[in-house]
Amino acid sequence: MPEIKYLRARDLVILSDTIRVLVSGACGNMGQHVVRAVTSAKDMELVAAVDPAGLNRDVGEVALGHSLGIKVLGHLAAAIEQSSPDVMVDFTHPDVVMGNLEVALKAGVSCVVGTTGFSDTDLKIIDRMCRNHNTTCIIAPNFSLGANLMMRFAAEAARYFEYAEIVERHHEHKADAPSGTALKTAELMEAARGEPLRSAPTAHEKLAGSRGGETAGLRIHSIRLPGYVANQEVVFGAQGELLIIENVSSSRECFMPGVLLAIRSVRKLKGLVYGLDSLL
Ligand code: NAD
Repeated sequence: MPEIKYLRARDLVILSDTIRVLVSGACGNMGQHVVRAVTSAKDMELVAAVDPAGLNRDVGEVALGHSLGIKVLGHLAAAIEQSSPDVMVDFTHPDVVMGNLEVALKAGVSCVVGTTGFSDTDLKIIDRMCRNHNTTCIIAPNFSLGANLMMRFAAEAARYFEYAEIVERHHEHKADAPSGTALKTAELMEAARGEPLRSAPTAHEKLAGSRGGETAGLRIHSIRLPGYVANQEVVFGAQGELLIIENVSSSRECFMPGVLLAIRSVRKLKGLVYGLDSLL
């Protein structure tokens, strides 16, 4: 005689709270980490995986080495139709993410986006789409806790230091430069200071671009090399001293607690939320 197990009321609440997650870019570096993180979270269910690179493969075989019974699909709209997700997580490419967001937000799916490379105009369009479809989107240029604290500390230090430069280092496959994190850091530093920072002028830049790109009054330098995951240094200079605030990511796993936090929070928010800071 098999043992009969009765569910308690508490279990039923947990079951009904399960967040149905679709991962877009599921076969990429970050997407595979998201698949592993979502499938090991007790309050989430992976319901679909989209990625033209892994068409018809079992996403479990790709990301975990064992079957999950979920085939990778190529069309986001069809995947949403089939799986009715609550949340789409997107780690794809700057060239395709706007199209993905248009499809998901229009279908009433909340979005958590790690893909970088958005322009100010893109963000305005996304905010409008969220309002028009009464949906929510969290976009974080960096989901790591350390990177978010680095940004917070850099903003604080910018109130006291006039001169600063940012050096960001990423792997050789990163499509955009400078990184979304570097741009966001510069923006937060300028806002905290109440005016642009200062960078030392160079009379003769013998090689164009050697002083980096300028925003918020400071220079950003982007290094792309195999061996890096994602690092950033914010260097403040004053008479006789330097203050260096550095974050070093050695594995993409560092992004997952932030991604899971955003998945759990996104349906409680409204409109476009840019950056993880307000969720920490
Ligand atoms: P990747 O190239 O390894 O993966 C991207 C995947 O997206 C690929 O498998 C590709 O086939 C897939 N893809 C392409 N077009 C698609 C589409 N239309 N629909 C669905 N999938 C599609 O790149 P990655 O290293 O995983 O990085 C992805 C993005 O995440 C980049 O923009 C990167 O800068 C960003 N990133 C953000 C964070 C963060 O914390 N926010 C951290 C790391 C990387």
